[in-house]
Amino acid sequence: MLDALKRWRRRRALERSAIPDDLWNEAVAALPFLGIYGEAERARLRELVVLFLGRKSIVGAGGHDVTPLQRVVIAIQACVPVLELEHSLDWYDDFESVVVYPGEFVPDWTWEDEAGVVHVNDGPLAGEAMPGGPVVLSWPDVEASADFEASGMNLVIHEFAHKLDMRDGDANGCPPLPASLDAREWKRVMSDAYEDFCARVDRDEDTAIDPYAADSPGEFFAVLSEVFFAAPAMLADAYPEVHRQFAAFYGQDPAGLAAAGSGVAGIN
Ligand SMILES: [Zn+2]
Repeated sequence: MLDALKRWRRRRALERSAIPDDLWNEAVAALPFLGIYGEAERARLRELVVLFLGRKSIVGAGGHDVTPLQRVVIAIQACVPVLELEHSLDWYDDFESVVVYPGEFVPDWTWEDEAGVVHVNDGPLAGEAMPGGPVVLSWPDVEASADFEASGMNLVIHEFAHKLDMRDGDANGCPPLPASLDAREWKRVMSDAYEDFCARVDRDEDTAIDPYAADSPGEFFAVLSEVFFAAPAMLADAYPEVHRQFAAFYGQDPAGLAAAGSGVAGIN
């Protein structure tokens, strides 16, 4: 009964809030990394985006008006990490809104972590995710990082990866893992890679991966998640073990898809 009700609600939400083809195609074209996905994955992603937009409000702040295209561009990138996760959008059920500023913003909030430490943000920030709170984004930074090849980053995936990580507390680089993954193995792989990466940054090596990843294990997970989806071969090459753990966690293998060339022709 419950399942039937859920299915009915889902169908109704999909029908009511369908995204027009032109808008969808324009948003997909703005995100070149989606080129790895074939028709079937794109169709599922589109459904998920409609459901995401039905559950979340994407609101402007600081005088910013969020356009329909901006809503879809943000929602697609929020949905990519949960596309193959069990309970997909439920991973995001601890917050209501995505707040979009017209530029970098200086947060005026403070928050207390599990250890009771009160954090005061001194900004300005391009993006922020808070445990149990909204995701906040600067639109120009979302726009600039839509193309990883040009910018070397993906802001939206970064912030939503933090939200996944925060499902079991602070962002510490270890999200709740499925039973199929061994938590000790995850921690070993991640801490070995983190140690190696920090040593490279300390030596001033020119790393392909954003050196900001050395900031903390939480940032390491978020930055490597960006790379996993938006420049998958780079992660598979730099940290193959991390890539394998991420593929098992996210239930996707973007590097494999990219190598197989299974994406939709004409969009890359
Ligand atoms: Zn971060």
